[in-house]
Amino acid sequence: MRLILLGPPGAGKGTQSQRLVKKHGIVQLSTGDMLRAAITAGTPIGQKAKDIMARGDLVPDDVVVGIISDRINEPDAGRGFVLDGFPRTVKQAEALDGLLDKMGLKLDGVVELKVDEGILLKRIAKRHADMQSRGEAARPDDNPEAFETRLGAYREQTAPLIDYYRRRGALRSVDGMAGVDDVSRSIDAVLPGG
Ligand code: AMP
Repeated sequence: MRLILLGPPGAGKGTQSQRLVKKHGIVQLSTGDMLRAAITAGTPIGQKAKDIMARGDLVPDDVVVGIISDRINEPDAGRGFVLDGFPRTVKQAEALDGLLDKMGLKLDGVVELKVDEGILLKRIAKRHADMQSRGEAARPDDNPEAFETRLGAYREQTAPLIDYYRRRGALRSVDGMAGVDDVSRSIDAVLPGG
């Protein structure tokens, strides 16, 4: 199973990806997680991405495409994968098409989590509070200013991917406003065999 999860920040892509990983024995490929790991490790990519991510802007396409093309070629990704947070621009989607073509692979679907923008800010505030109450370091981009920037980046640069994949007949839209279990069930229902 090879999937993309598409949706604005706070739509639940990470949560649903983890469930898909358990259910299908695939790997989660989250460019956000990979970039955060690069920042923690202090790599050149991490140094380049740090301030951009803290502001809520998108990291340059060539950087994330490079990360994904390395990761997708690792043996564990051969079991299948769910792309969480990639692609985020049409350029990235075109690069992904090229990568998959070269590998002789096809996507099984692109799942869009549809969520009202109004509730996203509340979700992000809750994630921030939950992480703090668990004593975990809160994400520096889970504050209202950076969140607005992230939402703007989604609207302008990522939302066009909905049409991109719809035109290819790959788009499956589900209601992301329901409870976590209901959203998981809706995703299962739109996937092959569901
Ligand atoms: P996420 O964890 O998916 O919310 O991503 C956190 C941040 O990492 C984003 O706001 C971007 O700054 C950066 N990022 C993650 N994935 C991408 C991507 N595919 N393209 C550009 N920037 C990305």
